[in-house]
Amino acid sequence: MEKYIDIIENSFSGYFNYLVKEISNPSWTNYFYWLIGLSILVFLFEIIVPWRKKQSVIRKGFWLDTFYILFNFFLFSLIGYNALSNVGVELFNDFLGIFGIKNIVALEVKDFPVWMQLLIMFIVADFVQWNIHRMLHRVPWMWKFHKVHHSVKEMGFAAQFRFHFLETIVYKSIQYIPLAMIGFGIEQFFVVHMFSVFVGHLNHANLDWSYGKLGYVFNNPRMHIWHHAKALPAERPYGMNFGLTLSIWDYLFGTAYVPKSGRDIELGFEDDANFPNTFLKQMKYPFKKDK
Ligand SMILES: [Zn+2]
Ligand SMILES: [Zn+2]
Repeated sequence: MEKYIDIIENSFSGYFNYLVKEISNPSWTNYFYWLIGLSILVFLFEIIVPWRKKQSVIRKGFWLDTFYILFNFFLFSLIGYNALSNVGVELFNDFLGIFGIKNIVALEVKDFPVWMQLLIMFIVADFVQWNIHRMLHRVPWMWKFHKVHHSVKEMGFAAQFRFHFLETIVYKSIQYIPLAMIGFGIEQFFVVHMFSVFVGHLNHANLDWSYGKLGYVFNNPRMHIWHHAKALPAERPYGMNFGLTLSIWDYLFGTAYVPKSGRDIELGFEDDANFPNTFLKQMKYPFKKDK
């Protein structure tokens, strides 16, 4: 037990030092500056070619979401993931050790070129996340957490990061634990992760884009806006378009739904007028008892 607590402590303090260094030394593999750079880039697209021209550039919820970006990405997806994944790897390897196995995942993919290992990991992780996302909509207590993301009433790139921090922990640990198991650190996964952030920003951006045929593979703004539709079609009571970076799962499994332009559809969920609109209240919301 002490071993695991030590790992958590070391992860957090190691990461804290890493972050301080990152912020004071900009470089090409710097998460913080890439996040800010990508945010500014997508924000510029929204300003130059907006889909909803009447929507103000500083839309409803913009500052709240900007805070969410910093909070979720910067603090938890980095610090939290690192601690969790190190513990996860250790636990997993200890578990395998009981059976005298050293490292099971490494057996299959370690011989592939690095780019292929990353590609496989990315596709597997995206599929796992697609399934979790479907559960977030189906299981009542999980939906309470996920409502935070769906409380967005006017869509813009920063909305990607409006979600409860426990979602980050679940998503990221599931995404990264297998990676860490085959010996990848966060540095190697950097490119894949930033790509997901970029696609996620675009999915939520005020842009009339669907990437032509590529839209059947990659999630896109025209598709994801329907995921946020307030009125759900009768035959899809739990929603549709659950894809994160890839849209292909929704097309494969019949959960894709883009009936027409979703430019002006109402966003949110039933009774969203009573949903809290400040950060702290939104964090506390899922823990409140139902009346
Ligand atoms: Zn959702
Ligand atoms: Zn969304």
